[in-house]
Amino acid sequence: MQKMTIRDINIKDKRVIIRLDFNVPLDANLHITDERRITSSLPVIQYALSQGASKVILMSHLGRPKGTGFEKELSLLPVAKRLEELLKEKILFLNDCVGPQVKEEIAKSSQRLVLLENLRFHKAEEKNDPAFAKELASLADIYVNDAFGTAHRAHASTAGITAYLPAVSGFLIEKELQYLGHAINNPVRPLVIILGGAKVSDKIELIQNLIPKANSIIIGGGMAYTFLKAKGINIGNSKLEKDKIDTALSLMDQAKKAGVDIVLTKDFVITQSFTSDDCKISDTIPDGWESLDIGPKTIQSYDAVLSKAKTVVWNGPLGVFERDAYANGTRAVAQYLASLKDVTVIIGGGDSAAAVAKFGLEDKMTHISTGGGASLEFLEGKELPGIAALNDKK
Ligand code: AMP
Repeated sequence: MQKMTIRDINIKDKRVIIRLDFNVPLDANLHITDERRITSSLPVIQYALSQGASKVILMSHLGRPKGTGFEKELSLLPVAKRLEELLKEKILFLNDCVGPQVKEEIAKSSQRLVLLENLRFHKAEEKNDPAFAKELASLADIYVNDAFGTAHRAHASTAGITAYLPAVSGFLIEKELQYLGHAINNPVRPLVIILGGAKVSDKIELIQNLIPKANSIIIGGGMAYTFLKAKGINIGNSKLEKDKIDTALSLMDQAKKAGVDIVLTKDFVITQSFTSDDCKISDTIPDGWESLDIGPKTIQSYDAVLSKAKTVVWNGPLGVFERDAYANGTRAVAQYLASLKDVTVIIGGGDSAAAVAKFGLEDKMTHISTGGGASLEFLEGKELPGIAALNDKK
């Protein structure tokens, strides 16, 4: 079922409250070091203003406060200042998000644009406390959720509030549902999934959900070694989840039965110590060595599969990409994906999004999900509470 968006509802002369993801990184001087979450939120704010909403009230969390009140280093004040510059419009920044004073200040202010203080200064937010959700709802007539990154959490500002107001999505969530949903449920085939990252245990549900949907699944990164071990291949000291060997065997068996090709690592970049950058390319992993990246033959085998793909979904780096010595595999795959024509390439948030950004290839991908945990749960086929709670399109 499709969800209603802010375009499907009349917001003229209405008070609109928008849940955004302003969880931006701040340095020691409380300067914003990456403002992409703010800039990507501008379209929905500008739209609400342009459609004549009487108040546009913005709310977000920032970091992980203790939930016992104000903490200066997690205040949204730097976001308020930057938003004013970007929107060229004055913002009423309030020092709390609920309570009679907040209501009064919003009502008496001539400013249309309001930013509430960090929602998580109240424990009630993450507890999805109904009284707190009702308080937030009492500030507005319509609720808009455009914070995909927290849509997998049932919090007061993402789920609870929808019990009291008409609830629609903003443009970012609409786009996430369009791209992720289409890629998984209705892809132009072949659909190739690339999975990496540290642990098999984090990706079991994902692989299980994708086996019936994908044509090929590439498994690289730290999680690949448990699969190789399961096949009887020596992996030296490489990352292994012993208790997941049977799971790996069962997943490979399920894939075989479903006719899905599983592509594993064929050669390695090996080292004798995880902390050392002293490494070499090898077809095997001798005892005493561990592999921290995929080798050139593996990259070639990926390219052969990817050259036939029409849709690609990538989740998880293929090596320890944070370190130059082990970034080559992840970079090569990112570059190959960037070079593909007429192929939908979806990057599923978190570390893979960070990797694509590190290599300066963000503009070359069809869609980069803004939510790490949320996009993983979406790809696992789970219902995201913050999305399920939105009104269905009629
Ligand atoms: P995840 O949080 O599951 O997405 O895992 C991401 C982490 O996996 C990154 O920090 C990578 O450095 C790490 N990683 C990728 N490949 C390997 C590997 N071969 N050995 C150890 N860690 C790896």
